[in-house]
Amino acid sequence: MTDEAERKMQFLFALRSRGVTDKRVLSAMEAIDRGPFIRHYFTDRAYEDMPLPIACGQTISQPSVVGLMTQALDVSARDKVLEVGTGSGYQAAVLSQLARRVYTVDRHKRLVREAREVFDALGLTNITAFTADGSHGLPDQAPFDRIIVTAAAEDPPGPLLAQLKIGGIMVLPVGQSDAVQSLIRVSRSESGFDYRELRPVRFVPLVEGLGRDS
Ligand code: SAH
Repeated sequence: MTDEAERKMQFLFALRSRGVTDKRVLSAMEAIDRGPFIRHYFTDRAYEDMPLPIACGQTISQPSVVGLMTQALDVSARDKVLEVGTGSGYQAAVLSQLARRVYTVDRHKRLVREAREVFDALGLTNITAFTADGSHGLPDQAPFDRIIVTAAAEDPPGPLLAQLKIGGIMVLPVGQSDAVQSLIRVSRSESGFDYRELRPVRFVPLVEGLGRDS
């Protein structure tokens, strides 16, 4: 077996052993190489199940957390998805394999620019990335079938709840930024919102307003 094939097998094994069992999610994560999203930092650790630093003091999430969040989002091929917190673009790229269209926003212009370069290089044409404060959602493109937030707010932001379709699902970490947060899954039905707590997680905070570089 080549080094690359062995690395890929170990990567997928680590995902499965941490609870990522959905076949479609595993194939999406097999198809998207995490390496290009790490850029020059820590490229040798791209296939390990750990979060890593990226530009603007942010982090690319741990692959198993990306897998578990994607699995909880239960995306189908017709879905229009919003991601708040583009970061490296890795989560959006994984979603692009499962959804019809992915909109992703980050408050740092540089991260959006770099993520777009990777999307272009990989030919991922169903992702649109914007520099914006995602705590307001993306009113021009709303409503969404699925919303994923990859930065922690104290509570689910009202505009995001409002931009979720009936029948829609939102997955997000909530809690104080310096403590352990909870990953929650919000489902919207005709009668309102249902909240389910999934697991403890740790994310960078959702910050209002654009980054200084924007
Ligand atoms: N999903 C990313 C990791 C995200 S890290 C990946 O796959 O690599 C969290 C990101 O949320 C950071 O890049 C940060 O800049 C962004 N963020 C924080 N607050 C935000 C806000 N209000 N609007 C948009 N992006 C925000």
